[in-house]
Amino acid sequence: MGKKGLARERLLLITCECGAQIPIVYDIYEMSSLIELHIKTHKMKDACAELSEAEYARLEDLLISKIFEVLGK
Ligand SMILES: [Zn+2]
Repeated sequence: MGKKGLARERLLLITCECGAQIPIVYDIYEMSSLIELHIKTHKMKDACAELSEAEYARLEDLLISKIFEVLGK
């Protein structure tokens, strides 16, 4: 991580299926809390239904695979 000279300020984003964009940060803890926070916004949109564990895991997998997609380019 943090190779010098590598466009360090370039902001990479992933787009969730809901259309929201989440910045990719090079800190695994920060990244996972961004993902967690974002997934919680899905829960709030559908206030009467709790996000199921399966749905949470599905969104988490989706967002993580998008990160790899973007970084793999
Ligand atoms: Zn979303």
